[in-house]
Amino acid sequence: NAKMHRNEYSSYEPEMNRKSHDRLRLESDLRRAIEQEQFTLAYQPLINLNTGKVVGVEALVRWHHPQRGLLPPGDFIPLTEENGLILQLGEWVLKAACKQNVAWQNAGLPPMMMSVNLSMRQFRQHQLAERIKGILDQTGMPPKYLELEITESMTSDVEFASDMLASLKEIGVQISIDDFGTGYSSLISLKRFPIDKLKIDRSFVGDLTQGGSDAAIVSTITSMAKNLKLKVTAEGVENDEQIQFLRERNCEEAQGFYFTKPIPANLFENWYRHRYQM
Ligand code: C2E
Ligand code: CA
Ligand code: CA
Ligand code: CA
Repeated sequence: NAKMHRNEYSSYEPEMNRKSHDRLRLESDLRRAIEQEQFTLAYQPLINLNTGKVVGVEALVRWHHPQRGLLPPGDFIPLTEENGLILQLGEWVLKAACKQNVAWQNAGLPPMMMSVNLSMRQFRQHQLAERIKGILDQTGMPPKYLELEITESMTSDVEFASDMLASLKEIGVQISIDDFGTGYSSLISLKRFPIDKLKIDRSFVGDLTQGGSDAAIVSTITSMAKNLKLKVTAEGVENDEQIQFLRERNCEEAQGFYFTKPIPANLFENWYRHRYQM
């Protein structure tokens, strides 16, 4: 009968019910995950295209879900932003990334920048700068090696963003604009913020060499960054042609599967030592 079917096949339930049910389940799983530290970080290098050197790594969170396996951030970050758990998760990420950077230093790797993504909710958190300062002190991470990635949408309240960015710069960290080009920030407004770097969104890099408008967009962002004395990183670089193009346009840094996918800390260290025959 119908009732039995409903129990056997969740797709028989109204779509809305199933969705809110999944969501509640995920939400309670997340609370447990934060208590039990089921998260892990994957690391992906940022490479200087002139020198070939690793200038930094970006920390990207993953969730080892006890039943569902390894989940990418897209599967759970949006929910944590809605329900506020991102504050705890974000703090865990910052601390774990700083600890890792210090551990690599102690293991003899040359100094590297550590990039960490901030969510809107974190960016709006009361005393964010003081909290980050606390994490830097606690982990022994020199502030100048921490790079915080924010998105254009976080700068829409210009007054608030200016104050927040100023207080972050005051503790000595670097600021970059992630997914640059996908938001609505005017180029001029960038001058109002103490920003160090633009990261060109990978949607512009993918078809860079296919003769469409992306080539013009990437060239424009790169030369604008130069004029504003900002560093620039191209995201999502996957092949030689893209590297070639970026070099010709003086885009100094790149990140993408071309070098390596994001990988766990121990694999990253192996990758690094192999690359430099250390
Ligand atoms: P993102 O900050 O733009 O990070 C780069 C994403 O692009 C990563 O996906 C990475 O795996 C992927 N990627 C890197 N190189 C390539 C490439 O060559 N080709 C393609 N197709 N993709 C590439 P991931 O790890 O799934 O992260 C997705 C997003 O989740 C991140 O985008 C970031 O916005 C968010 N995220 C990740 N970790 C955190 C975190 O700790 N806190 C917050 N608030 N957000 C995070
Ligand atoms: Ca990022
Ligand atoms: Ca990005
Ligand atoms: Ca992003």
